[in-house]
Amino acid sequence: MNLASWVERNGRRLRERPAVAEGERLVHTWGDLAGRVAALAGGLRGELGLAEGTRVAIVMRNRPEYLVAQYAAWHAGLVAVPVNARLHRDEIAFVLADSGTEVVVTDEEHLDDVGSLMGEVGSLRTVLLALGEDWDRLLASEPLDLVDRAPDDPAWLFYTSGTTGRPKGATLTHRNLLMASLSYFADIDPVQPSDSIVHAAPLSHGAGLYGLPHVARGAVSVMPEPGGFGGAELLALSERWPGMSFFAAPIMVKRLAADPVLAGAELPGLKTIVYGGAPMYLADLERALEAFGPRLAQIYGQGETPMTITALSKADHADRDHPRWRERVSGVGSPRTDVEVRVVDVDGRALPAGEVGEVVVRGDVVMTGYWERPEATADTLRGGWLSTGDVGSFDDDGYLTLRDRSKDLIISGGMNIYPREVEEVLLTHADVTAAAVVGRHDDEWGEAVVAFVVLAEGAGLDREALDRTCTERIARYKRPKEYVVLDALPTNNYGKVLKRELRERFADDER
Ligand code: AMP
Repeated sequence: MNLASWVERNGRRLRERPAVAEGERLVHTWGDLAGRVAALAGGLRGELGLAEGTRVAIVMRNRPEYLVAQYAAWHAGLVAVPVNARLHRDEIAFVLADSGTEVVVTDEEHLDDVGSLMGEVGSLRTVLLALGEDWDRLLASEPLDLVDRAPDDPAWLFYTSGTTGRPKGATLTHRNLLMASLSYFADIDPVQPSDSIVHAAPLSHGAGLYGLPHVARGAVSVMPEPGGFGGAELLALSERWPGMSFFAAPIMVKRLAADPVLAGAELPGLKTIVYGGAPMYLADLERALEAFGPRLAQIYGQGETPMTITALSKADHADRDHPRWRERVSGVGSPRTDVEVRVVDVDGRALPAGEVGEVVVRGDVVMTGYWERPEATADTLRGGWLSTGDVGSFDDDGYLTLRDRSKDLIISGGMNIYPREVEEVLLTHADVTAAAVVGRHDDEWGEAVVAFVVLAEGAGLDREALDRTCTERIARYKRPKEYVVLDALPTNNYGKVLKRELRERFADDER
C-alpha cells in the first residue's frame, strides 16, 4: 500500500475538514491538500522527469509545504529523504550524496546552503524552493494518479542522528511505516479526525513518524509558528486545535513542565504528550506528571525500527497504586504490539528476566537495511533481529528497563557501571538540574566515573553533598571521582546529550 493513499482518501471523505495548519491559522483542508499532493506528484514525474524510486530530499523547517512535498513524493512513487534542517551545510551534503538525492525541496532559510551544493553533490539536479515560482508552476501540473507501491518499496530514508560517527540511512518501507502507524493506535492512542498533532520537534525525526497515524486518521497537522514552542504556544494551540498530541524529547517535556505560563493550567485541549528518543529521568518525569497529569506516554525506539520497540502507556503512567510503579516509570515499558523484543547475551542467546544484555527486535516495522551499506546492514540485522546497541533487562512482568547504550557503559576496576544509574541519583539532589556521566581513562581503574552537572541557579558545587547522595543509594564504586560544572549539557538537534563531545574534552586534556 502507498502511504499517500491516506491523503487521497481523506481528500474525498473529509474534504472540507482541516488537514494542515500553521499556528492557529488553517492552511489546507484535506480536499486542498490532496489536490496539491497529486499535482506536485504530477510535476515531479512529468516536468522534472523523475523515475520511480528517485530520492527527493526535504530540507526545511517544519512548515505546511513539508507535508505537501513528503506526500507528493510518495504519491509519485519516489523515496523521501527528510533531512534535519538544522544540520551544517557539509552534513547536509553528506546525506544528499549518500542517498543519491536528485531533487531537494527547501525553503528560503536553507536556500543558500542547499543551492551551493549543486555541482558539489554529483546526483543533485534540482533545488526546488517551496513557495517560489517553480513551486507554483509544479503545483499547477496535471494531477498524477496514485502510483502503486509494493510493501517492501522504500518510502523514507531515515538518517540516524549520528551521535556516533557518520549518519546512515535506515531504509524504511511503506510496510514499515504502516506498521509503525497501526501500532500507534494499538499502544499509544486511538486518533479521530477531530484531533490534532502539533509538530514541535523536527519532522525529519520522531515528530514526522508520529505525524503518520494522524494523517492516516484525518487529524489536523499543526506547525508551530517559527520561533519555537513553549508554554504559551501549547496553551493557545491546544485551545484552537483540541484533541492535541505532540512528540517531544524528554528535555523539552522538562522545559515545558517548568514553564510558569502553564502553572495551574488545566489544558483541556491537550490529549497526549509522547516523549522518548532519550532517557527520561524519574525526577523529571514526576515533575512532568504534576504539570500535565496522566497525559504522558513514553516510547522507546530507533530510526531503524521507526520509534517502535516498547511503550510505557498513559495507563502505566497513571497506575500509581501499582507496587512497582516507580520501577515501571523508570523503564521504557513493554514491547509494542507489532514486534518481538528480546534481551540477549553476546552470543545472541535470549536471557531470562532480570539479566542484562543487548536489546534486539524483530518485526514488520524493522527497516530492510541501511541504504547501500550491506556491511553495516549485516552487522546490525542478524538472522532477522535488529541489534539496537542498547543494554537493558526485562522484569518478571515483561517491562523493559534500559541501562545505557553499550558503548556508554563504564568499566571501572572490572565493575560495570551504567551511567544512567548514577545520573538518576545525582538528579535527585536539588542542586542538580542536569547530569551526564561518562568514563575517563584511568591508569589504575581502567576507567573512572566523571559527572558533568548543570547546577540550579545560585547553587555551588558541593562535592561532599553529591557524594553522600550517591552513597546513600548506589554502590560506592559507582560514585563520580570527578565533577565538572557546565552551563548546559551539549545536545544534538534532537535533544540527545552528546556524550562523545564530553569524552572528547578529556582527549583534549590528555593530548
Ligand atoms: P535515534 O535512532 O537517533 O532516534 O536513536 C535511538 C536511540 O535513542 C535508542 O537506541 C536509544 O539509545 C535512545 N532512546 C530512544 N528512546 C529512548 C527512551 N525512551 N529512553 C532511553 N533512550 C531512548
